[in-house]
Amino acid sequence: MPKYCPTCGNSSDKIAFFGNFCEKCSKGRFSALLPSKVEISRCKRCGKIKSDGQYTEPNGRAIESAIRPYFKGFIMHLISHSEGSARIDVSEEMENGTLSVESEISIEYKKTLCDKCYKKACNYHEAVMQLRGNPHKIEKFADRVTRFFESNNEFVTRTEPKDNGIDMYLSSKRLAGALISKMKLHPNTSFTLAGVKGGKKLYKNTYAIRFD
Ligand SMILES: [Zn+2]
Ligand SMILES: [Zn+2]
Repeated sequence: MPKYCPTCGNSSDKIAFFGNFCEKCSKGRFSALLPSKVEISRCKRCGKIKSDGQYTEPNGRAIESAIRPYFKGFIMHLISHSEGSARIDVSEEMENGTLSVESEISIEYKKTLCDKCYKKACNYHEAVMQLRGNPHKIEKFADRVTRFFESNNEFVTRTEPKDNGIDMYLSSKRLAGALISKMKLHPNTSFTLAGVKGGKKLYKNTYAIRFD
């Protein structure tokens, strides 16, 4: 006995059925269940988006992961995306096969600050390098510090011109120490109490480095 779709009257002799409904109506019902709008957090300073719990470049893979939580229980793939929308493919496993639909969703961006930009905005720093002496050597060294910090996922909070040199404020004293020992430098190091966190005293390291 053929089944007849309660919505459109199609018969199971002519079209595949998923449960009680024909394929066409099942897809329509499935599409209607899916969200048409998603929200993604985006850093207003650097443009990175929050995906899988961390801020990352807004490429297709990151956008797909950021959208995925809205489609829990389904298989979801990103087909294409633009600034405010995305085309996706969503599937659900049913007892007599996989039901797939393509869907256009709009993306809204929530303005946030990523951890790094937040720290920069608060002038966060753990170490200061006071570079003094030969301006040419200082410039070269400062470039090296910036590259080293950025390639290790840290940052230079700010650079301040001083008489006879510059001060560099750095996000990680561990990394500052690593660069100093890597380059076999012997700075005058001083430690100042910067605050207390969880009962532990936090020190800011200051390295005075002279270039002749
Ligand atoms: Zn139907
Ligand atoms: Zn940011």
